Amino acid sequence: MSKSFSQHVLQWFDQHGRKNLPWQHHHDAYKVWVSEIMLQQTRVETVIPYYEKFMQRFPDVSKLAKSNVDEVLHHWTGLGYYARARNLHKAAQQICEKHGGEFPKNIDQVIDLPGIGRSTAAAVLALSCNQPHAILDGNVKRVLARYFAVEGWPGMREVEQKLWHHAESLLPEKSFAEYTQAMMDLGATLCTRSKPRCGDCPVQENCLAFTQQRQNELPTSKPSKKIPQREIVVAIIQNNLDDSVWLEKRPPTGIWGGLYSFPEFDNTEKYEAWVNMRMKAFPHQMQSLPVISHTFSHFRLHMHPKLIQINKKPNGVMEDDLGVWYKLTDQKIGLAAPVQKALEQVLNSKKEQPYESHGAMCKA
Ligand code: SF4
Repeated sequence: MSKSFSQHVLQWFDQHGRKNLPWQHHHDAYKVWVSEIMLQQTRVETVIPYYEKFMQRFPDVSKLAKSNVDEVLHHWTGLGYYARARNLHKAAQQICEKHGGEFPKNIDQVIDLPGIGRSTAAAVLALSCNQPHAILDGNVKRVLARYFAVEGWPGMREVEQKLWHHAESLLPEKSFAEYTQAMMDLGATLCTRSKPRCGDCPVQENCLAFTQQRQNELPTSKPSKKIPQREIVVAIIQNNLDDSVWLEKRPPTGIWGGLYSFPEFDNTEKYEAWVNMRMKAFPHQMQSLPVISHTFSHFRLHMHPKLIQINKKPNGVMEDDLGVWYKLTDQKIGLAAPVQKALEQVLNSKKEQPYESHGAMCKA
């Protein structure tokens, strides 16, 4: 199968492959290296003008090594991912120090350079020196995951290892430079992420994703992290006499640190126990308000507001707590967005509908 795969790919490359890219004109490892680094996360069309200007200013390893890193970064401006440029500069200095200014031809020495992984090292040596190395960039991963119907996200170590194994098993016996470029082109132009052009693909006959019509499912996407959900119950105690609401200052650390919020409970049972203890001396009415959800970086909070209306301030009852009676129209203290939203609900709820009373708790 391997011979047939590479033969098909090479034949297709002969007719349709990209053979006139500026870094293909000379088999110069330095030039191929710079182009490969620029092409990471960046499209060929975008890279070409940057590559040409870069080569005018830094035509060889030694010129790049001797330049000021700021000038290198200046030539990278607009390409993004600036660590690539810093590593390129550092690697050029390393090549001058350790390899006499000659780009190394041994794959382990290439991988040793800053910013060069296994696939980039293989691509540089295959394209510039026709060395027999398999590559596995993002495009090739996609082609192979589909061709062999490899399950699992390619970012996972064991999936990646499977793909490396397949990539190596498909290598031709010669023409490694052309084959490497062909695999890149196949992924970039035919076996694209969405709507692959399987009708024009040279390896369609044995492609498992095509046979099973699973091109859209493969490669498997990165598993989305399930964000934890947290439910809380909050008590919004509203004094009907002056429309103030009881707010407590939160501890300085943790969510909404130092801001004011409502008395908060992990669940309804704890809330009800608190109401029974704190509010029993005060005639009140209760109402559940709509749930307010808020996403933090590491979890999603669902706040269940319970509005408790009273007609008399519960003096003495709250004195242990660090809190304030906050007038709904005041804006002088720090309020987290969901707290602000809950207060708006209180205002709206008052305008729109009469409160339903909770018989067992209601003494009014
Ligand atoms: Fe990709 Fe389609 Fe070719 Fe399979 S047949 S490798 S899915 S383009």
